[in-house]
Amino acid sequence: MKHNHISMKIGNKRNLVELLIATGPRTRASLSRESGLVPSAVTRLIRELMEDGIISVIQYEEKSEPGRKGEVLSLSEKPVAAIFDIGVTKTSLGVAFLNGKIDLVPSFNTPETPQEFFRLAREKVSVMRSVYDFQMVSFSVPGIVNCETREIILAPNLGWYNVRIDELFNGDFDILADNEANLSMLAEARYATDLAGVDNAVFVIVREGVGTGAMIDGKVVRGNSFSVGEFGHMVVSIDSEQSCHCGSKGCWELYASIRWANQEYGLLNGNNHIDKFEELLNMAKLGDERAKSILSNHAYNVAIGVTNIVNALNPEFVIVGGSLSSAPDWYFAKVDEVVKSRALKMATKQLRIRPTIFTEPSSNLVGAAVYAIEKYLDKVINTDH
Ligand SMILES: [Zn+2]
Repeated sequence: MKHNHISMKIGNKRNLVELLIATGPRTRASLSRESGLVPSAVTRLIRELMEDGIISVIQYEEKSEPGRKGEVLSLSEKPVAAIFDIGVTKTSLGVAFLNGKIDLVPSFNTPETPQEFFRLAREKVSVMRSVYDFQMVSFSVPGIVNCETREIILAPNLGWYNVRIDELFNGDFDILADNEANLSMLAEARYATDLAGVDNAVFVIVREGVGTGAMIDGKVVRGNSFSVGEFGHMVVSIDSEQSCHCGSKGCWELYASIRWANQEYGLLNGNNHIDKFEELLNMAKLGDERAKSILSNHAYNVAIGVTNIVNALNPEFVIVGGSLSSAPDWYFAKVDEVVKSRALKMATKQLRIRPTIFTEPSSNLVGAAVYAIEKYLDKVINTDH
C-alpha cells in the first residue's frame, strides 16, 4: 500500500511538471483545474517541487482569484546540463536549463579523434561549470549509441568506433549520450505544437549522412542493439555497385545525403559539405537553374526513402531537418508529392511532411537538453521526501 501511495504521488508530481512544460506558466488554481487534482493536493505537491528547486514563482497574476495568492508558477531557470551537438565538422554546445532555456557557447571544429574531442569537451565543461552549477553532460552523436553504457558503437562519418565516453571524459558528471535523430525526435515531440497528442512520427536528418529517429506509440524507440532508425542504410538501388561505408551497396544515404547533391553540382564554395550545400541552396534561391534541378532530383531521392519509411512505420508526421532545415518550400512540396504518389494510400491519408521547427540552436542540441531535463526530473522527483 505504501509503495502504491508513493508511486501515485510521484506520478502526480510528474503530471504537474508535464502540464507546466506543455502549457507554460500558470497558477495553482489552473493546475488544479487541468490536472483534476484537488487544490490542497496541488498546494502540497507544488511546495515539495519548490523545495526541490524544480518549480519557482515567476510573477503574480494581476487579477488573482478571490482567496488565492495568484502566484504564477514555472519550471525554474536552473542549469541542468552542458549539452553538445557533435557534428562531423563542427560541434555546437551550451548550457541547458530546466525551464527549456539554452545559453549557447561559441562552437568549435570537431577534432578528428575521439580522444582529442573528449579532452576538449572536458575543458569546455570546466569553463561552463565555473559559471553554472550543473551535474550532467549530454551528447548528441551522429551515429549509433548505446545509451545505457554511453558507448558510441559506430559513427561512420566521424570514423569513430566503440568509443566509451565514460573512459575518455573523466570527471564527476553524469554522462548522457544518444543518436542525434533520436534526440531531434524528442525535441520536436516536446516543443512542436502540432505534435501534441501525436504518437507516431519520424524525424529524418539529412547531413553528410542520413539518420532517422522514430517515435512509435508515443515513445522514441531504440531497439535491441540501438540501431532502430538506421534507414540511411536501407537499400534503395538493388543493382547498384556503389559501395557504402556500412559495407553494403546502394544505400539510401548514398543518394539522399548532402554529399550526393554537392558532388552532382561539382565546384562549390566552402570548406566542408555543410557549407557547400548551404551555397547550393543559396544558388537555387537566386535562380541558378542547375542548382534548382539538382535540388529537385535530391528531393526525389529523399522522397523515395521517406516512402519506404512511411510504408514501414505508418507515421502521422515526417519531419525533415539537418541541412534541409532551410530548404525552400518547393523542395518540401516535391517530397510531399512524390511520397503521396508512391506510398500506400492508407498510410498517406493523414500524413504530414514538414521541415523541423528548429534552426538555431539545432534540433540535435535541443534534444540533448530535453534528454537531460527528463533524466534530471526522473532523478529528483523519484527521490521521495
Ligand atoms: Zn550503407
